[in-house]
Order: sequence, then C-alpha cells, then structure tokens
Amino acid sequence: MVTGAPAKMLDRREELTPMLAQYVDLAEEYDDAVLLFRVGDFYKAFCETADEVARVCELTRIEREDSTGTYTACGIPVDNAAKYLDRLLDAEYRLAVADQVEDPEETNGLVDRAVTQVITPGTVVDDELLAAGSNTYVACVTRGGGADHPDPEFGLAHVDVSTGECAATAGSLADVREELARVAPAELLTGPDVDAGGDDLAEGAMTTDYDPDAFAPDAARERLTAYADPARFPPAAATAAGALLAYAEWAQGDDGPLGHVNRVRRYDPRRTLRLDATALRGLELFETHAGDGASLFDTLDETRSALGRRRLRAWLRRPLLDRERIEARHDAVEAFAEHTLAREAARDLLGEAYDLERLVGRVTRGRADARDLRSLHATFEAVPELRDALADAPELAALRESLDPMADLRERVDAAVVEDPPTDVTDGGVVRDGFDADLDEVRGVAREGREWVANLESAERERTGIDNLDVGYNQVHGYYIEVTNGQLGKVPDDYTRRQTLKNSERFYTPELKRREDEILGAEERADRLEYELFTDVRADVAAEAERIQNLADALARVDALAALATAAVERNYARPELGADGAFVEGGRHPVVERTEPEFVPNDADLPKGTVALVTGPNMSGKSTYMRQVALCVVLAQAGSFVPAQSARLPVVDRVFTRVGASDDIAGGESTFMREMRELTDILHDATDDSLVVLDEVGRGTATTDGRAIARAAVEFLHDELGATALFATHYHDLTELADERERVRNLHFAATREGGDVTFLHRAKPGAAAASYGVEVAELAGVPDAVVERARTLVAEGADGGDVANGGSPDGSSDPVQRTLDDLGSAEPGRTGVTDPGDSTDAERETLAALRGVDLAETTPIEALNRLNELQRRLEEDA
Ligand code: ADP
Ligand code: MG
Repeated sequence: MVTGAPAKMLDRREELTPMLAQYVDLAEEYDDAVLLFRVGDFYKAFCETADEVARVCELTRIEREDSTGTYTACGIPVDNAAKYLDRLLDAEYRLAVADQVEDPEETNGLVDRAVTQVITPGTVVDDELLAAGSNTYVACVTRGGGADHPDPEFGLAHVDVSTGECAATAGSLADVREELARVAPAELLTGPDVDAGGDDLAEGAMTTDYDPDAFAPDAARERLTAYADPARFPPAAATAAGALLAYAEWAQGDDGPLGHVNRVRRYDPRRTLRLDATALRGLELFETHAGDGASLFDTLDETRSALGRRRLRAWLRRPLLDRERIEARHDAVEAFAEHTLAREAARDLLGEAYDLERLVGRVTRGRADARDLRSLHATFEAVPELRDALADAPELAALRESLDPMADLRERVDAAVVEDPPTDVTDGGVVRDGFDADLDEVRGVAREGREWVANLESAERERTGIDNLDVGYNQVHGYYIEVTNGQLGKVPDDYTRRQTLKNSERFYTPELKRREDEILGAEERADRLEYELFTDVRADVAAEAERIQNLADALARVDALAALATAAVERNYARPELGADGAFVEGGRHPVVERTEPEFVPNDADLPKGTVALVTGPNMSGKSTYMRQVALCVVLAQAGSFVPAQSARLPVVDRVFTRVGASDDIAGGESTFMREMRELTDILHDATDDSLVVLDEVGRGTATTDGRAIARAAVEFLHDELGATALFATHYHDLTELADERERVRNLHFAATREGGDVTFLHRAKPGAAAASYGVEVAELAGVPDAVVERARTLVAEGADGGDVANGGSPDGSSDPVQRTLDDLGSAEPGRTGVTDPGDSTDAERETLAALRGVDLAETTPIEALNRLNELQRRLEEDA
C-alpha cells in the first residue's frame, strides 16, 4: 500500500513537526490517492509513497531528518510537473495535489495547505496530460430499481471534464455494456449493486469507488438540477449523471457546479448505428489488431484541428440512422468536395484554430491565463475569414451562418489584453494601455517616477561633481546612488548611507526614497488592478461559454466535413446513394488495405436485402478483406462519408455485427471457442432484418463436425428467422449447398492461378462456390509433388460425405498451428484422429486417449491446450 498516511509517521503522530502533521492529516483524508504535498518548489511525497513516486518517475530520493526521525522524501518539481504526473496516471494512480492556500509571505508559522485538485485518469484537465485529438471520459454506471428488481434499468453517464461534454442514457445491462465500449472511458465509477469486474464493464478503464451517498437517487437528482432538469432523464440515467457530476466537482476541488458543463445530453444509443466492442475491433475502426498500421480513423483523418479530430472520431463511433441527417452530411461533403478553393481555405484557417472547447473549460474554471484569452481571440479572428471562404459554396450557407464571429468578445479581449502577454497574470504586463483610466493613472505615476530616477544620475553628477556616480536598483535595498571610495569626500550632506561594498558606498536621498515608495506603490497597485481587470474580462468570456461552445461545435463540423471531402477527393471515393433494397457496390475497395496494396483489385457487391452470401476460397485469397470492405462502406456512409467505390447504393442498417478470425484471440486468455460462441450468441439474439452481419470462419474453433454443424445452423437461422443481410466466409465447403436450398443464400468465391512458378491470388470475387478441392488445387499450384496431389484428390472424392478430408480440415488455419491442434484435438474419435485401434494400445496410450477425451475444449485456452499436449506426449515417451 503506497497511498494513505505512512505507518512510520502515524506511529509518532503526536511528535511530528507541524508540517508533517499536516501531511499525515491530508494523506489520511485522501487515502486512495498519492498525496503530492507542496513544499517550496516541489510536490513532495514521503516514506513508502516517496519510494513509489521515485520508482515510477525515476526521481532520486533523499533522507529528510528532523527531531522526530528520518523520513524518505521525493520531490516532483512544480514547474516541470506534467511529465511526472503523466507517469503516475499511467501507472493508474489517483493524485491529490495539496497546495499552499495561504500566501507564505503573509503568514508567520505554518502555511495552511489543502487539496485543491484530485487528478485521475478520467478527470485530467491539463493540456499537457491530455491527448489533443481524442476525448478523455470518466463514466458512471448505476443500477435502478433496487438490488432485487427482476429486470433492473441501468443508467450510464459520461463526462469529458476538459471540454464539458456530458451525456446520459439508460438501458439493460447488455445495452450499457455495449455503450460503455463505445464511450471507452479512462475511468469508471459504479453505483451500489453494480459489479464492474463481474459484469464485464470496466475493460480498459480504471475503476473508482466514490462516496456511496452521492448515488442516493435524491442526492443525485439534486446535484443534476444545477445542470439540467432531472425529469428529462430516465431515473437510472439521472442518478448516474448526478453522481458523476458530484464526483467531477469533487475532483476539481469542490467549487460548486462546473461552469462549462452547460448541457447534459440525454441520448439513446439505439438511435445511432450500433457497433459493439467486437465490431469496433473486428472492423479496426480505431485500433488495429496488430497495434501498428492504420485504422479506418487514421486513414480518414484529414482534420486540421483538435476540435475536428474529436468530432470525426465521434461520427465514426456513432454513425447515424436518420436518412435525412445522413444525406445532409453527404450534401455538405459533396459541396466541400466540389469547391476546392473553399475547402482548402477553410482547412488552412482551421489549422490556426485553438482548442475552443478546452479553452472554455479553463476559462470557466478560472484557470485560463492571458495567453488563453489571446488564443480565443485568435480563433474568433479567423471566423470572418472562414465565413468568407464558405461564401463560395451556396450549399454551405447554413453551416456558414452557424459560425458566430463573436465580435463583441473578440473586441473586448483585444482591447484589454496585450498581444503577447506573460503567462503569469499577477505580475503585470497583461492589460493594454488605454483600457482602463485608473490603471493608466497609476502606471503614469510609476512611469514618471522611473523617468525621474533615470534622469537622476546626470543631475547628481552635475550637482556633486562625482563623474562616475551611478544610480541603480536592487531587489533587497531598492534604489541607490553608488559612489566609489575615492570620491566619498564629495558626497553631499543629504546623502544617507544605505549599504557598504568593498570599493564603494551606496546612498539614498529623502527625495529618492519618496520616489521609490511612490514607484513601488504604484507598481503594486497596477499589478493588482491589472489582475482584477483581467479576471473581469475572463468572467465576461465565461459568461458567454455556451456561445463559444456553439462556435466550437460549428468549427468542429466544418473541419470534420472538410476532412471527409478531402479524403473523398484524394482517394477517389463516391457519394453513396441510400436505398432500402440492399447493398450494391460497384468497384468497391478496402479503404485501409488499398493504401498499402499498390495493385488493389476492386470488387462488386450485390446483396439484395436479406441475402446471405457464402464466401469461399483458399487462405489469403481476399475473403476477409472483401467482407470488411462491404461493412466499412456501410459504416462510412452512415457516418456521413463518401465510400471507397466507383458507385454504391447502400442501406441504412441498424447494427453491424462482426465475428472475425478465430485466431486473433489467442492472446485473450479466454477459450477462443467459448468467446467465438458468445459473440455468435449476441449476433443471433440481436440481429434484425435491418442488420448487416459479417461472419468470418465461424465454427473454426472446435471439432470439424461440430464446427460445420454450428456454421450451417447459424446460416439457416440468419436466413430463415432473422432475415439479416450477411456475409459468411467459411471453409466448410458443403455449406455452399445451401444456395440451392435457400432462396436468398448466394455463393461467392475467390480463386487463385499459377503464373510462372508462383501461385497468384486474383483477389477477385466471382459468383458461385469455390471448387470442393480448391485446397488441393492450391497445393498443386504451389508445386506439391504430383503423387501427393493425386492421392489427395482420391481422398477428397472418397471423403465427400464426411467432408473433413475434402476440406483439408482447416485450409484457412494452416498458418495457425494452435488452431489446427484444437481442431485435431476436438475430433478425438477413432478413425478420424489417426490414432488407430485402441485394442493394440499400451496402458499409457489408453490413459492418454482417455485424458484427451476428458478435455473440455470449451473451457481450454490455446496455451493450456499446448501444455496439456506436451504433458501427454511426455507421458507416452516415458512409457516407451
Ligand atoms: P483471406 O481472408 O481469404 O485469407 P485476406 O482478405 O486476409 O484473405 O487477404 C489476404 C491478403 O491479400 C491481404 O492482406 C491483402 O494484402 C491481399 N488482398 C486482399 N484483397 C485484395 C484485393 N482486392 N486486391 C489486392 N490485394 C488484396
Ligand atoms: Mg480471412
């Protein structure tokens, strides 16, 4: 335990120095956080916490000794804290920052300290600790209706504390789990009776226990009232939002409601295209399986501002269902695509826009400095030009009108704040001359005094005849007249000695002293006045937070639309037509693969609504790429984008489901097959006739017989019961017979040829099923000896009913030894496994077989399977 009060200090609590006693009190109060205790220019930690901070931050420790003992200490430099705080957050620590809340110069004795901010992975607001182009959310899940309610409603709320974006929804546990995967919060709070781990809610998020009282429905509603009318929300959603905002306020130092959270959006995830965690992963929308290479988002991201980048991400995460709204986006993308000059001008201007959302956050929290106000000003200043740029495109008139140039605030900031202000707003130099008469007056006094001092040197040289006399200033002693020792005889009577140096003496005169007081007094008053004027202007800006947020929203839209248009123009995308009758694509490409594959072969798709397309062909022939590109076209179109195709007519689907590639999950720990079946379950439960389903090699994770049966049953169910539009790649060749039996089942295949000495994949989708023996054909193409090929052909013919051999067991799994092992393990029946007549076996062999049969594959991970095999093999070897 590295957080909380150190045991060593607790032991001698009564004796501690007042400062360490203060430390112990705060550390006890914030016992689940690393307490960073401001001492001078450092945030300090002590004892065990110091050890941990030193380790994580790679800082050195010191031994600190006082009358009560020796304590290890470690300090993070305040001026350079961000990178260290970042490391601690990465290590999943909460941080409680204890600052001095009294001016040390105005206290004698111990300065009072208090925790002014709790920083957690989900409540970070510092730009230095945040990724610019994505949101950082903290989310909250609550359970409504009491612990024993049979069908409870769950509430989900999320907030980005840096931008003020906040939204809440409610639904079943499954709905909330799915939505949570889309929000992908950095941190998760859960209310009573919600089990983050057991309910699989917290994937990738740090979980936080927060004050249970905040989750009491009445308290939560009360809190929400400061932001929105609780009656607008389902009860569980109101509770989640209220508790979450209570937490966010607390983390920001409990100064009351957060000024930049101007609305709490109530939303229903069912009103956007639903993509669950499996689909997000399977389609590689934001992250790739391998962790390198480009995701769809990376490929599409031509935005120029952090605002636009976050918006595009949100659009891709929540594509639309409403046809009119989708087409409005397509209209705007088309307009930007056609008006090249407008597009380029707009993008250049957006490149100069600052992150208005986060600036507003800082302004309303009272954390914005003078540079932040200038950044707001610079962004406002770009708006009229941006409006001019858009004037060329009449289709963009509405968008243009939504861009408020904020002329009033722009002028106010510009009149008040100098162009290149210092970051410190308490030390003067921030407010322009001419902005405030009082300020001008005190500044005049100070200036006049300084001029008098500046003239003093020549005046005194003349008066005294000391020609090397100097007038200077120093922080400690103030203004002085310096005379070298050789000239001391000429010093007049009105000089008073101030300081003696080695070769000279320093003096002042009554008039110099008077002027000094006047100058310093005026400067101090000017600084105070400037700070007041600055905070007034900042408050004026804060009062317009909502208008600035609306402008931010408009800028984000312009940037996202212009980015989509740029991608469309540069990569030759087409505007999709929306129709209810199915998915029809001419010359479709995979938006990501085409960028690295110089000779990408475009393919058509012809999927009337309710079609189940069975896709066959050898490994590496392009099946997975093809299926994903169809799904990606649908997602892109509903997000508002053009699509990588020559032309496309696409449906508006309610959900896209995927189950891709069993082998991808080997690292997951869970039994691959179990997971595969769980995902299949979700699909078969939830898909409708408006859904698009992509199944890639489903059923591969178990014995061939079972796998084939499951695959076939799933296709039949999709077709007969659900009527969903589906693409199903399979190596179970006999499934292709379904095309003859079922009305809307079609076959597609990918083929290979031999060119020169090499096997070449054509990557071209063709109607009809692949030949039953395509595996053998590929073997022949690859140059496997004729005798083996012939023998294989015979076996294919003989095994036509069994199918196992015909399909080579798992032609697609050949690159995947663990998967093959699982397939073989699964078919542990005599005559299929290659283990012959058990009658001739030794005891060890019989035991091995029994052990094999006893393996519960659904509960075995690939790694366990390998270990088990190894063990069995060893047993046989020992026996022999
Ligand atoms: P399968 O699922 O049939 O095993 P994939 O879809 O994974 O095959 O494709 C294998 C590789 O072939 C891809 O990584 C890609 O490089 C290439 N490929 C796929 N489709 C095409 C295409 N239409 N044009 C060119 N190359 C392609
Ligand atoms: Mg594949």
